[in-house]
Amino acid sequence: MDRTFYFCLPFTISPMLSAILGGAALATAIGAAGYQTKAATGQWYGRTFIGLRPGTKHLALTYDDGPNDPYTLHLLDVLAKHDVRATFFLIGRYAKHRPDIVRELAQHGHVIGNHTLTHPSLIFRTPARIRRELADCQRVLTDAAGEQSNLFRPPFGGRRPAVLRIARGIGFDPVMWNVSGCDWKAPSAEYIERKVTRQIRGGDVILLHDGGHKVFGADRSRTVSATDRLITRYHGEGYNFVTIPEMMRKASPGNRTSASG
Ligand SMILES: [Zn+2]
Repeated sequence: MDRTFYFCLPFTISPMLSAILGGAALATAIGAAGYQTKAATGQWYGRTFIGLRPGTKHLALTYDDGPNDPYTLHLLDVLAKHDVRATFFLIGRYAKHRPDIVRELAQHGHVIGNHTLTHPSLIFRTPARIRRELADCQRVLTDAAGEQSNLFRPPFGGRRPAVLRIARGIGFDPVMWNVSGCDWKAPSAEYIERKVTRQIRGGDVILLHDGGHKVFGADRSRTVSATDRLITRYHGEGYNFVTIPEMMRKASPGNRTSASG
């Protein structure tokens, strides 16, 4: 099974364990299929971008669930200090509330992606609702800061073939991640740094959060300082931080980590 860190558990659920728990091959298959709907690097349900071939000296910082006040702006200061551009997957309803922060992100050269209007899990939503979530979010982002990227990250990483098909059908490019800082529950910046550094192998897409999908204003101070520490550390090791579109451009078919290139 792909290594995955979406759940940020100290272990991954093995097929063997599923078999024991389920007691039948069918249950195993269903369990694995359900698992794949959220496994960040799983590719059963369609190709998603999760980074470059291991060993590449590029890293992409990505932030979900913003814009958020004041942490998105604090993050902008840290990124500007290091002259690093990142990719932000914004929630439409927060962007509508704070279009000024969306404009700040765009003006500083960061890439803005779509994380739906209201952050529902799309796994059990109708095609009409999925299209509406994406289109309405994109309209808010465009109203705030002009035309944005066509990048899309499903809330909770949840997806099924139809979600990706519908998103692609209306022109979006799904982006997941292969490294998670587990920062929504982090007790400290050091914890986030440790989580990330244990998973880095080069060419990674790193998932962090500048906001919280449950409430606007979630405390992301630890993510802000972890970002400062991670950039300092990896710049020192000769890594280059890039946005997702920059990383995609570097991704020749053989240099891209996904099922079908
Ligand atoms: Zn989210």
